[in-house]
Amino acid sequence: MSRYAEDDDDRPRRRRRGARDVPCPKCGSEYSFPGLWPWYLGTVGLMFCRAVVCADCGHEFDAKKPSADLPTRKRNLAIGINGCGLLGILAVFGLLALWLTLTMKR
Ligand SMILES: [Zn+2]
Repeated sequence: MSRYAEDDDDRPRRRRRGARDVPCPKCGSEYSFPGLWPWYLGTVGLMFCRAVVCADCGHEFDAKKPSADLPTRKRNLAIGINGCGLLGILAVFGLLALWLTLTMKR
């Protein structure tokens, strides 16, 4: 009698660890968990960056661009997005200043 028969399970073995996703650039694992949302990038950031954490080696990367270095990418996006916001604010202040100088000129 062999106890091997107990293991006679021909269904494909599936170890569910996180969701099947973009392969990890570091170890090639296809399993990852959603990482921390870079809140400082706002909803705009969600369109460009989706942080995921590899279930095997714990490497954190961007599912939208796995080859990129995530901290660098986050920083660049933060600068880009906040820079645009800052430019918008500066434009408003600039127009306000222009309007003030024009109305005060008399
Ligand atoms: Zn990995």
